Amino acid sequence: MITPRQFFEIVPNNLNMDIRSELYSTNDFTFAVAVILSAQATDKKVNEVTPALFRVAGTPQKMLELGLDGLKQHIRVISFFNNKAKNIIALAGELSKYESSDKWAFPAKYHNRAELMKLPGVGQKTANVITNVLWGAPNIGVDTHVFRLAHRYGWVDASANTPEKVEAELLKKIPKKYHDIVNHVMVLFGRYTCTALRPKCANCPLRELCEYNNH
Ligand code: SF4
Repeated sequence: MITPRQFFEIVPNNLNMDIRSELYSTNDFTFAVAVILSAQATDKKVNEVTPALFRVAGTPQKMLELGLDGLKQHIRVISFFNNKAKNIIALAGELSKYESSDKWAFPAKYHNRAELMKLPGVGQKTANVITNVLWGAPNIGVDTHVFRLAHRYGWVDASANTPEKVEAELLKKIPKKYHDIVNHVMVLFGRYTCTALRPKCANCPLRELCEYNNH
């Protein structure tokens, strides 16, 4: 059986994954914007456009002043920039009622996933990254890949039949030092190697340890 420790020691090292967020930001607001921009885009690509963007629009108020078209000009090389621009402007509209300094910080009421997810453009994954990176919240976004692999490796049993139950079990079983990379590593590994059908066991760095491997 593969233990969580073995998994998180072996997989990132062998698959050459870019596992930690290296998103450029100047305060909580620009970090949230960077995370929204990074959906289905690499951190590297996002970092190419954000320094110039945040120089002119580093607070919600300034983002509103830049406006939708101005924002699109800055981010047009990023995938789904039209939608992301709309979401970021809506987010800035909601957050512009709070402080306006360049050290903009989320008010305390947003320091949890549920409140963050009420903001425009902030889905579960974005909220997980924000709460995890800004406030060290221990949470693990459980999508279809995380859910499948947790069951496949026997890290959770059949009673963990919802994403919430799987997350609660994983938080207990996976050593804390890996919590901020769990989602990212498991999603990539589940998407490209340990796939739902016909996992690529021949190329898998875990094949000697894996009981699921029949190939
Ligand atoms: S050996 Fe196959 S089933 Fe096991 S972890 Fe690797 S890809 Fe998944």
